[in-house]
This record gives sequence, C-alpha cells and structure tokens, in this order.
Amino acid sequence: MNQLGRHIIVEYYDCPAEILSDVTHIEQAMIQAARDADATIINSTFHHFSPFGVSGVVVIQESHLAIHSWPEFGYAAVDVFTCGDQVDPWLCYQSLLKSLQAGHGSAMEMGRGQRSLLKPVEDAEVREQYQTPESVKAIQTRNIWFTERDDDIALSLRHTGEVLYRAQSPYQKVEVFDTYAYGKLLVLDGKVMTTDQDEYVYHEMISHPALMSHPNPKRVLVIGGGDGGATREILRHDCVEKVVMVEIDQLVIDASIEHLPQIASQFGNPRLELRVEDGIDYVEQAPDASFDVILIDSTDPIGPAEGLFTESFYRQVHRLLTPQGIMMVQSESPRFNVQVFQEIYSCFRGIFGAQSVHCMLISVPTYPSGSWSLAYCSKGGVHPLRDFDVEKTAAFSAKEKLKYYNEEIHSAAFALPNYVKTLLSA
Ligand code: SAM
Repeated sequence: MNQLGRHIIVEYYDCPAEILSDVTHIEQAMIQAARDADATIINSTFHHFSPFGVSGVVVIQESHLAIHSWPEFGYAAVDVFTCGDQVDPWLCYQSLLKSLQAGHGSAMEMGRGQRSLLKPVEDAEVREQYQTPESVKAIQTRNIWFTERDDDIALSLRHTGEVLYRAQSPYQKVEVFDTYAYGKLLVLDGKVMTTDQDEYVYHEMISHPALMSHPNPKRVLVIGGGDGGATREILRHDCVEKVVMVEIDQLVIDASIEHLPQIASQFGNPRLELRVEDGIDYVEQAPDASFDVILIDSTDPIGPAEGLFTESFYRQVHRLLTPQGIMMVQSESPRFNVQVFQEIYSCFRGIFGAQSVHCMLISVPTYPSGSWSLAYCSKGGVHPLRDFDVEKTAAFSAKEKLKYYNEEIHSAAFALPNYVKTLLSA
C-alpha cells in the first residue's frame, strides 16, 4: 500500500428513527461490521442521549469505527478508519447499510499517511521500539451507556448492552436494562423510573412519612406506581386495610413483575385492589372522603401523566380525602425541573392552604441531579412533625429493616436548604 491507512467518511440516510435511537442495536451493528471486515475488536463505547441519538466507537486493532446518529432526521454519520491491508473498510460500509436499514448511503475514501510524504524516524532503536509487533493479544471490552439528559444536565448509567424488556404501549415506551452500578433499571420514554439498588429511597419516603403521621390510615389510594414499590411499602403497615392502585399501563406492571420482582413483590397481596385505568378518570368518579392517604406516584408531566399535574386533578384528590387525610405527591426536582416544582407547590397551597403543604427532599442517586422532592399535603391540618410518634417510627423502621426511612430521617427530610425555601416563596 502506498498509504498507512484508509479512511471512509460515510453518510446513511432514511434509516428508521427507532433503530437510530437504539443503543444496543447500533452497538451490535457496529461490532458486526467490524467482524464482517475481519477486524480485531478491542473495545466498544456507546452512549444513548435519551431522547436523542447514539454516539459510539468500536476500537479495532486496525484503527476504529465511529457513529453519531440523528433519529429525528433518519441520518447517521459514520467513519471507518483501517490501517494495514487486511481490513477493507468498504465491507463495514456494506454491513452497516443493511443493519441500519438505510434507504441509501454514500461514502468517500481518503488515503491516510501517504508513504511518499512520510519519513522514518532516523534512530534505528526508536524505530524498532515502535514497530507493530506481529501479533498483539486483543481483549474486547464493552462500554454501553444509557443517558437521560436535557439541554444542560445528563445522567449516565453503564449497562450490559442487553435489552431485558422493550415494548411500546399506547402510552409510552417501556424498557428494562441491566446496569452495572444500580442493577435493573426501569425506563419509561427514555426517563429513569427506578432501579433495583436505590428504589427504596423514593418508595419508603413517598409512603411512610404520611402513614406514620396519619392518626389511623385504613384506606390508601395510589395513582400510578406501576412498578409496585410504593404499594409494597404501604402494605408493611398492618393498620392499612385496603390499597387501591390505579395504574394506566399494564406493560409497566408486566415488566416490573418479570424483571424487578423485589419491587413488584406485593401484586398478589389480598389487601391490594389493582386497577389498570387512567387515574384522572378514577379520581373524578370515586366518592367523597373515600381514602385516608393518597399517593401520586407518577411519571413527569409529559405524556399520560400530564393531567396528573393539574389543579383540577388535585382538587379531586382533595375531595377524595377523609377529613384528616394526607396527599403525598412526587413533586419533581428543585434542581432539574425548577419551573414545574414552583408551579405545583403554588397549586397545592391554593388547594390545601399554605400551612398544610410541606416539602420533603430526598436523595435519589439515579434521578437527574440526585435531589428530588415529595409534597406532603394534609386536608385537616395533620402536621408531619407534630403528629408523628418518634418511638413508634423507630420501632417500625427497625422491625421492617427499612433501608432509608427512620425517625431521624422523618424530621430531617422536611428541613429545607435556603435555596429551596427561596424557590418556594417566589
Ligand atoms: N415508582 C417510581 C419511582 O421509583 O420513581 C416511578 C414512577 S411510576 C413507574 C409512574 C407510573 O405512573 C408509570 O407506570 C405510569 O404509567 C403511571 N401513570 C402515568 N400517567 C398516569 C395516569 N394518568 N393514570 C395512572 N397512572 C399513570
């Protein structure tokens, strides 16, 4: 060869958006392309920038393959660089054309390192030292990342690259991945819902502070919560006679039972009435004063949960509460979703009264920014700190071997840093 390497710059057009946002499919397609050209794979690193495209590189002993995809345009930009004459980059081109299901593609080749322009290093010893040995042992490693991001903040979790569950329901895309740091990860429409390893923070905290401060919680309603974690926590309380859970999406329940069994462990409990329907319709039709505690364990305010973040919905919830009733709501993050955070607290104060709305902060490592909030709103003025029994809570936490909630956390969670107080008073 009169050059060190061959570099092809490739354009793929009219690819299905679904494929271009599927990090696992793209990683496998790129690995297969390298194999089809008989390259020796060293390492692969792929990121999915949910809800956007995928970027990734396969490092081969003979150089690299790289890709950046734009699902919204059905477009992928690829480059394949090979050195030596053993690997033909055009075989990678053909392989990817098929596996990305491109309508059409184009590519141009550049020779890299023209031998006529290269001058060998003069020192023979140095030259020898840097000469490529006959055989280099290649050990393949994989780096595949799930990333949830907005324009300015991202959270990434490395996973095995296998998709344990993927299905599109009428409401959302439901996926489960196996992450290295946090175990199984449930994702809805590209957003982290929960993971095996830190789920307890959210589920214990959305349930126990209300149930430990209410004088006698017998009937509990959960809106959303399809993974089953909140229900599992509520059912730890013997005083609770009935839990009605209203989840819109059967597939979230199915995926959780199959892949997150320790979270979904109580779906068979006889005290649970599980209803697969829209929580908005349910609260419109349920009778006045029918629940002592109501948890709104919802997704973010886009898609099916949009209507769960409205004043008319919370007014219905208020109507459904018994006179001493408490509503607990997943109230977004004071760091990540500042505007929604401020708006819903102002809405709660308008319905429940300023003195009866209390913000709690929890630390959830796998939610963007890590800092999340829950709103405790009481109808008849039950106070989360004055009306909770420290000793009873300590005994409950110890007996149930809880991982996060205890009598100290109960009080501490309501202590707010000044920046949050400022946001809430604006
Ligand atoms: N428990 C979780 C955690 O650890 O953060 C997160 C949320 S849970 C999976 C949110 C659920 O709310 C989803 O399963 C979603 O289908 C459900 N949901 C969204 N909109 C709904 C609606 N209008 N009625 C009932 N459920 C709804």
